Amino acid sequence: MSARFPDLSGISIAGLETTIVVPSLRLAFDMGRCTSSAVKQRWVLLSHGHLDHVGAITQHAARRALMKMPEGIYLVPAAIHEAIERLFNAAGELDGHAIPRRIVPLEPEQDYELSGGRFVRPFRTFHRVPSQGYTIWERRHRLRAEFRRLPSVELARLRRQGVVLDEPHEVPVLSFTGDTRIEVIEQTPELGAVDTLILETSFLDQRVSVTEARAMGHVHLDEVIARHELFNGRDVVFSHFSARYGAPDIHQALTRLPDSLRPRVRALPFNAD
Ligand SMILES: [Zn+2]
Ligand SMILES: [Zn+2]
Repeated sequence: MSARFPDLSGISIAGLETTIVVPSLRLAFDMGRCTSSAVKQRWVLLSHGHLDHVGAITQHAARRALMKMPEGIYLVPAAIHEAIERLFNAAGELDGHAIPRRIVPLEPEQDYELSGGRFVRPFRTFHRVPSQGYTIWERRHRLRAEFRRLPSVELARLRRQGVVLDEPHEVPVLSFTGDTRIEVIEQTPELGAVDTLILETSFLDQRVSVTEARAMGHVHLDEVIARHELFNGRDVVFSHFSARYGAPDIHQALTRLPDSLRPRVRALPFNAD
């Protein structure tokens, strides 16, 4: 099945750097490295304060100012809002200029409006510091249940009579977990259905055990395999692999996925610039 967001790209290596961009939505998830593609994205959705995820956030804002682009908008967990402001203030002091930015603190379930009828809804994640993931939702319309079996001529007749046939509904199109333990999958219903799910899978084999992965606040591939029936979206992007794994390790690990899941999985990093 084709990916819903073929323009999704980025780099994500545990402890080193994570930046994932989706130009069609004009947003980036986390800002561990300010790539040339990331600079162009106005919205940055920050999962948590670990430096491999936040280290380049002031650079992102400063480079946008240098290029005379509109200020970046940074959606951040409310619990770290003030620390992020202090980080920008310190960076501005060092640089000799205040760094233009708009910082928006968000709690889980607190919606934020994007453009084009889309909105962001943060969800709770399970890491060692305050953290949250994000789902992008689209507002669409669908036929109300009582009309779905009617032939189109009948629907057209009802429509001419002024009967309201449609109802609004919200569709999850893209989710990003950031760093978390696996229980985010059970605790966040939309992750089982979202079109594209970006999931951290830091640890892949016996070199790090499930117990050790959990203690560090991360996902182990064995935990994903044990829950493979919960992944029903059409595109699953694994990310945030430990730096100990090379491309052959990652390729080998993905062969352990059940047939029902493996064709829908791709692995970051890819196409990073
Ligand atoms: Zn990380
Ligand atoms: Zn982390």
